[in-house]
Amino acid sequence: RGGRPEKEIPFTQPDSLTRVYAVASGKGGVGKSSITANLAAAMAADGVTVGLIDADIYGHSAPRMLGAEGARPTVVDNMIMPIPAHQVKLISTEMFKPDRDTPVAWRGPMLHRALQQFLTDVYWGDLDVLLLDLPPGTGDVAISLAQLMPNAEIVVVTTPQLAAAEVAERAGSIALQTHQQVNGVIENMSYLPCPHCGPEHRLELFGSGGGQQVADGLSRRLGANVPLLGEVPIDMGLRESGDVGQPFVLKEPDAPASVALREIARRL
Ligand code: ADP
Repeated sequence: RGGRPEKEIPFTQPDSLTRVYAVASGKGGVGKSSITANLAAAMAADGVTVGLIDADIYGHSAPRMLGAEGARPTVVDNMIMPIPAHQVKLISTEMFKPDRDTPVAWRGPMLHRALQQFLTDVYWGDLDVLLLDLPPGTGDVAISLAQLMPNAEIVVVTTPQLAAAEVAERAGSIALQTHQQVNGVIENMSYLPCPHCGPEHRLELFGSGGGQQVADGLSRRLGANVPLLGEVPIDMGLRESGDVGQPFVLKEPDAPASVALREIARRL
């Protein structure tokens, strides 16, 4: 059957060697997609073979952030080929919309099928790591994911704000029901390095302590050690690079936010 790719071990099987991380948040706008895209790019730059499933159906931004907006995957012998973007193998719900202006009204079963298809009908090849960008909150996707990939570990993104931390903790504690592991918590937008006095002076625009609070809360609820994996500062460049499809970790590798993201990528 000339050229047909061999089907790999599905990620749903617990003996798969691929580490699967599902990145979750309590609410939108905390930077979950930015963090996920940059972690993927940082890992790929480190020589790790990475796949990224953008399952954030309402705010699918991974293609734009990785410079693959508008890309349409090809199908070879019934297998969907992921889009290579900064050495990350990318699949997004955005790629299957008829056109970019059509709003998506996905219902639970459709989402489940889409996720299932991304796991079984996409030709991923051997992956070291598979990252999933989940929709915010504790929705259908988290439950579907747990059924399809019980070995997926959850990574929770929050801002330092205590109100955000509360919803993030709730999102993470879905792991209690689904019997999944929470690998750790990432605090984003932790502080703005003062543009006048220098980076030692941290302007805590969104307060402080949210990430640690979520880590402590989840450790207590799950009866396991859930660490704070790192704190990513606010950087205007991070937002700008996401808008033009160049991951910040590659564009400005020495910026404090990039250093923090690379350290988190290595801890995972
Ligand atoms: P979510 O996926 O949680 O909805 P996004 O990743 O889309 O969040 O981020 C929301 C907005 O905040 C985007 O415009 C993004 O560029 C910006 N952003 C995220 N993290 C940072 C950061 N550390 N510094 C500056 N801007 C950020």
